[in-house]
Amino acid sequence: MFKNLMEMLAERIYPGELYCLCCGKAIDWSRPYGLCDSCMTNMKWATGRLCKKCGKLLSENNPEDTCYNCRAIAHNFNHGYTCTEYGIHDRAMVYALKYDEKPAIARSIGEIMADRMLSEFTKEELASSYDLLVPVPVASERLATRGYNQAALIAEYFADHTGLPFRGEVMRRCKETTAMKGLTPAERRRNLSGSFALIGSARDYIDGASCLVIDDIMTTGATADEIAGVLYENGAANVDFLSFASGADVIKS
Ligand SMILES: [Zn+2]
Ligand SMILES: [Zn+2]
Repeated sequence: MFKNLMEMLAERIYPGELYCLCCGKAIDWSRPYGLCDSCMTNMKWATGRLCKKCGKLLSENNPEDTCYNCRAIAHNFNHGYTCTEYGIHDRAMVYALKYDEKPAIARSIGEIMADRMLSEFTKEELASSYDLLVPVPVASERLATRGYNQAALIAEYFADHTGLPFRGEVMRRCKETTAMKGLTPAERRRNLSGSFALIGSARDYIDGASCLVIDDIMTTGATADEIAGVLYENGAANVDFLSFASGADVIKS
Protein backbone atom coordinates (compact mmCIF):
# COMPACT_ATOMS: atom_id res chain seq x y z
CA MET A 1 0.00 0.00 0.00
CA PHE A 2 2.75 2.43 1.05
CA LYS A 3 4.80 1.56 -2.02
CA ASN A 4 1.83 2.08 -4.26
CA LEU A 5 1.22 5.54 -2.84
CA MET A 6 4.89 6.46 -3.27
CA GLU A 7 4.85 5.20 -6.84
CA MET A 8 1.73 7.21 -7.50
CA LEU A 9 3.26 10.40 -6.11
CA ALA A 10 6.45 9.87 -8.10
CA GLU A 11 4.43 9.46 -11.25
CA ARG A 12 2.51 12.65 -10.59
CA ILE A 13 5.62 14.68 -9.90
CA TYR A 14 7.70 13.18 -12.70
CA PRO A 15 5.23 12.28 -15.43
CA GLY A 16 6.71 10.05 -18.10
CA GLU A 17 7.16 12.80 -20.62
CA LEU A 18 10.25 11.19 -22.10
CA TYR A 19 8.00 8.58 -23.62
CA CYS A 20 4.80 9.09 -25.58
CA LEU A 21 1.93 8.43 -23.16
CA CYS A 22 0.03 6.71 -25.92
CA CYS A 23 2.50 4.48 -27.82
CA GLY A 24 5.56 4.55 -25.53
CA LYS A 25 7.92 5.89 -28.22
CA ALA A 26 10.75 8.13 -26.96
CA ILE A 27 9.93 11.82 -27.38
CA ASP A 28 11.51 15.10 -26.32
CA TRP A 29 10.13 17.23 -23.51
CA SER A 30 8.61 19.83 -25.78
CA ARG A 31 5.85 17.61 -27.21
CA PRO A 32 2.42 18.83 -26.12
CA TYR A 33 0.40 16.51 -23.85
CA GLY A 34 3.28 14.01 -23.72
CA LEU A 35 2.28 12.60 -27.10
CA CYS A 36 4.54 11.89 -30.09
CA ASP A 37 3.85 13.55 -33.46
CA SER A 38 2.42 10.36 -34.90
CA CYS A 39 -0.10 9.87 -32.08
CA MET A 40 -1.04 13.58 -32.19
CA THR A 41 -1.69 13.29 -35.92
CA ASN A 42 -3.51 9.98 -35.84
CA MET A 43 -5.82 10.76 -32.93
CA LYS A 44 -9.25 11.47 -34.43
CA TRP A 45 -9.80 14.94 -32.97
CA ALA A 46 -13.40 16.14 -32.78
CA THR A 47 -13.04 19.12 -35.11
CA GLY A 48 -15.34 19.87 -38.01
CA ARG A 49 -19.02 18.95 -38.03
CA LEU A 50 -20.10 18.15 -34.47
CA CYS A 51 -23.42 16.97 -33.06
CA LYS A 52 -25.15 20.10 -31.74
CA LYS A 53 -26.45 18.13 -28.74
CA CYS A 54 -23.68 15.81 -27.50
CA GLY A 55 -20.71 17.34 -29.34
CA LYS A 56 -19.44 14.15 -31.00
CA LEU A 57 -17.96 14.12 -34.48
CA LEU A 58 -20.74 13.59 -37.05
CA SER A 59 -20.33 10.76 -39.53
CA GLU A 60 -19.67 11.86 -43.12
CA ASN A 61 -22.84 10.14 -44.31
CA ASN A 62 -25.00 11.79 -41.65
CA PRO A 63 -26.49 14.89 -43.29
CA GLU A 64 -28.21 16.15 -40.09
CA ASP A 65 -26.78 18.40 -37.39
CA THR A 66 -27.32 15.84 -34.61
CA CYS A 67 -25.83 12.35 -34.34
CA TYR A 68 -27.88 9.17 -34.79
CA ASN A 69 -27.77 8.47 -31.04
CA CYS A 70 -29.10 11.91 -30.07
CA ARG A 71 -31.96 11.53 -32.54
CA ALA A 72 -32.93 8.23 -30.90
CA ILE A 73 -32.53 9.32 -27.25
CA ALA A 74 -33.66 12.53 -25.52
CA HIS A 75 -30.66 13.23 -23.28
CA ASN A 76 -31.07 14.64 -19.77
CA PHE A 77 -27.92 16.75 -19.99
CA ASN A 78 -28.08 20.10 -21.74
CA HIS A 79 -24.99 20.11 -23.95
CA GLY A 80 -22.07 17.74 -24.51
CA TYR A 81 -18.45 18.38 -25.49
CA THR A 82 -15.70 15.94 -26.43
CA CYS A 83 -12.12 15.93 -27.70
CA THR A 84 -11.77 12.81 -29.85
CA GLU A 85 -13.72 10.05 -31.56
CA TYR A 86 -12.93 6.94 -29.57
CA GLY A 87 -10.26 4.91 -31.37
CA ILE A 88 -7.03 2.98 -30.76
CA HIS A 89 -4.95 5.99 -29.59
CA ASP A 90 -7.26 7.43 -26.96
CA ARG A 91 -8.20 3.88 -25.92
CA ALA A 92 -4.53 3.17 -25.18
CA MET A 93 -4.37 6.27 -22.96
CA VAL A 94 -7.62 5.54 -21.11
CA TYR A 95 -6.67 1.90 -20.55
CA ALA A 96 -3.25 2.85 -19.20
CA LEU A 97 -4.90 5.33 -16.87
CA LYS A 98 -7.55 2.89 -15.67
CA TYR A 99 -5.83 -0.47 -15.66
CA ASP A 100 -2.05 0.07 -15.66
CA GLU A 101 -2.09 2.44 -12.69
CA LYS A 102 -0.63 5.35 -14.61
CA PRO A 103 -2.39 8.33 -13.05
CA ALA A 104 0.07 10.78 -14.69
CA ILE A 105 -1.88 10.26 -17.90
CA ALA A 106 -4.78 12.08 -16.22
CA ARG A 107 -2.73 15.28 -16.45
CA SER A 108 -2.37 14.95 -20.20
CA ILE A 109 -6.05 14.09 -20.66
CA GLY A 110 -7.09 16.93 -18.32
CA GLU A 111 -4.98 19.39 -20.33
CA ILE A 112 -6.42 18.18 -23.63
CA MET A 113 -9.96 18.58 -22.25
CA ALA A 114 -9.13 22.05 -20.93
CA ASP A 115 -7.72 23.10 -24.31
CA ARG A 116 -10.83 21.70 -26.00
CA MET A 117 -13.03 24.03 -23.94
CA LEU A 118 -10.59 26.95 -24.21
CA SER A 119 -10.65 26.60 -28.00
CA GLU A 120 -14.31 27.64 -27.86
CA PHE A 121 -14.60 29.76 -24.70
CA THR A 122 -12.39 32.16 -22.81
CA LYS A 123 -11.49 31.43 -19.18
CA GLU A 124 -13.88 34.23 -18.18
CA GLU A 125 -16.71 32.67 -20.18
CA LEU A 126 -16.06 29.28 -18.58
CA ALA A 127 -15.96 30.86 -15.12
CA SER A 128 -19.33 32.51 -15.68
CA SER A 129 -20.80 29.32 -17.23
CA TYR A 130 -19.89 26.73 -14.59
CA ASP A 131 -20.00 26.69 -10.80
CA LEU A 132 -19.16 23.06 -10.30
CA LEU A 133 -17.15 20.23 -11.88
CA VAL A 134 -18.73 16.82 -11.33
CA PRO A 135 -16.40 13.84 -11.90
CA VAL A 136 -18.26 10.64 -12.72
CA PRO A 137 -17.74 8.37 -9.70
CA VAL A 138 -16.32 4.84 -10.00
CA ALA A 139 -17.67 1.76 -8.25
CA SER A 140 -16.29 1.43 -4.72
CA GLU A 141 -14.63 -1.93 -5.40
CA ARG A 142 -12.86 -0.48 -8.44
CA LEU A 143 -11.82 2.51 -6.36
CA ALA A 144 -10.38 0.11 -3.78
CA THR A 145 -8.27 -1.80 -6.30
CA ARG A 146 -7.23 1.19 -8.43
CA GLY A 147 -6.73 3.61 -5.57
CA TYR A 148 -8.07 6.63 -7.45
CA ASN A 149 -11.03 7.76 -9.50
CA GLN A 150 -9.61 8.60 -12.93
CA ALA A 151 -12.42 11.08 -13.69
CA ALA A 152 -11.67 13.00 -10.47
CA LEU A 153 -7.95 13.15 -11.33
CA ILE A 154 -8.79 14.40 -14.82
CA ALA A 155 -11.19 16.99 -13.36
CA GLU A 156 -8.46 18.25 -11.02
CA TYR A 157 -6.02 18.87 -13.88
CA PHE A 158 -8.83 20.29 -16.00
CA ALA A 159 -9.54 22.74 -13.16
CA ASP A 160 -5.84 23.74 -12.95
CA HIS A 161 -5.80 24.68 -16.62
CA THR A 162 -9.16 26.38 -16.90
CA GLY A 163 -9.18 28.11 -13.52
CA LEU A 164 -12.55 26.54 -12.68
CA PRO A 165 -12.91 25.54 -9.03
CA PHE A 166 -12.57 21.84 -8.13
CA ARG A 167 -14.43 20.78 -5.00
CA GLY A 168 -13.59 17.08 -5.15
CA GLU A 169 -16.11 14.32 -5.62
CA VAL A 170 -19.73 15.45 -5.83
CA MET A 171 -21.42 12.11 -6.45
CA ARG A 172 -21.06 8.53 -5.37
CA ARG A 173 -22.20 5.17 -6.68
CA CYS A 174 -24.97 3.90 -4.47
CA LYS A 175 -25.56 0.68 -6.40
CA GLU A 176 -22.96 -1.64 -7.87
CA THR A 177 -23.70 -2.20 -11.55
CA THR A 178 -22.68 -5.03 -13.81
CA ALA A 179 -20.12 -4.27 -16.53
CA MET A 180 -21.62 -2.17 -19.33
CA LYS A 181 -19.66 -3.72 -22.18
CA GLY A 182 -21.87 -5.72 -24.53
CA LEU A 183 -25.14 -4.31 -23.18
CA THR A 184 -27.68 -2.68 -25.51
CA PRO A 185 -28.44 1.03 -24.95
CA ALA A 186 -31.72 0.15 -23.20
CA GLU A 187 -29.96 -2.41 -20.97
CA ARG A 188 -27.29 0.17 -20.08
CA ARG A 189 -29.97 2.58 -18.95
CA ARG A 190 -31.74 -0.05 -16.83
CA ASN A 191 -28.43 -1.16 -15.37
CA LEU A 192 -27.58 2.40 -14.32
CA SER A 193 -30.97 3.44 -13.02
CA GLY A 194 -30.69 4.57 -9.40
CA SER A 195 -26.95 3.93 -9.25
CA PHE A 196 -25.76 7.50 -8.46
CA ALA A 197 -26.45 9.81 -5.53
CA LEU A 198 -25.08 13.11 -4.28
CA ILE A 199 -22.42 13.02 -1.59
CA GLY A 200 -24.08 14.54 1.49
CA SER A 201 -21.94 17.67 1.68
CA ALA A 202 -22.65 18.51 -1.98
CA ARG A 203 -26.28 19.28 -1.13
CA ASP A 204 -25.17 22.64 0.26
CA TYR A 205 -23.96 23.99 -3.05
CA ILE A 206 -25.90 22.09 -5.74
CA ASP A 207 -29.04 24.26 -5.65
CA GLY A 208 -29.01 26.61 -8.64
CA ALA A 209 -25.51 25.46 -9.70
CA SER A 210 -24.42 25.10 -13.31
CA CYS A 211 -22.52 21.80 -13.50
CA LEU A 212 -19.99 20.36 -15.94
CA VAL A 213 -19.84 16.57 -15.62
CA ILE A 214 -16.40 15.11 -16.43
CA ASP A 215 -15.63 11.60 -17.66
CA ASP A 216 -13.07 9.82 -19.82
CA ILE A 217 -15.42 8.21 -22.33
CA MET A 218 -18.99 8.69 -23.48
CA THR A 219 -20.58 5.82 -25.38
CA THR A 220 -24.39 5.98 -25.41
CA GLY A 221 -24.64 8.82 -22.89
CA ALA A 222 -26.52 6.62 -20.39
CA THR A 223 -24.13 7.52 -17.54
CA ALA A 224 -24.26 11.22 -18.40
CA ASP A 225 -28.07 11.12 -18.43
CA GLU A 226 -28.35 9.27 -15.13
CA ILE A 227 -26.02 11.75 -13.42
CA ALA A 228 -27.69 14.77 -15.01
CA GLY A 229 -31.05 13.46 -13.78
CA VAL A 230 -29.81 13.29 -10.17
CA LEU A 231 -28.21 16.75 -10.37
CA TYR A 232 -31.40 18.32 -11.75
CA GLU A 233 -33.53 16.54 -9.11
CA ASN A 234 -31.32 18.15 -6.48
CA GLY A 235 -31.79 21.65 -7.87
CA ALA A 236 -28.96 22.08 -10.43
CA ALA A 237 -29.78 24.87 -12.88
CA ASN A 238 -27.80 23.44 -15.79
CA VAL A 239 -25.86 20.23 -16.52
CA ASP A 240 -23.36 19.95 -19.39
CA PHE A 241 -21.09 16.99 -20.08
CA LEU A 242 -17.44 16.85 -21.16
CA SER A 243 -15.63 13.65 -22.12
CA PHE A 244 -12.16 12.99 -23.46
CA ALA A 245 -13.46 10.57 -26.10
CA SER A 246 -16.90 9.83 -27.53
CA GLY A 247 -18.08 6.81 -29.49
CA ALA A 248 -18.41 7.15 -33.27
CA ASP A 249 -21.64 8.39 -34.87
CA VAL A 250 -23.14 5.14 -36.18
CA ILE A 251 -26.66 3.82 -36.66
CA LYS A 252 -27.48 1.22 -34.00
CA SER A 253 -29.49 -1.71 -35.30
ZN1 LIG B 1 2.95 8.03 -29.69
ZN1 LIG C 1 -25.12 13.54 -30.41
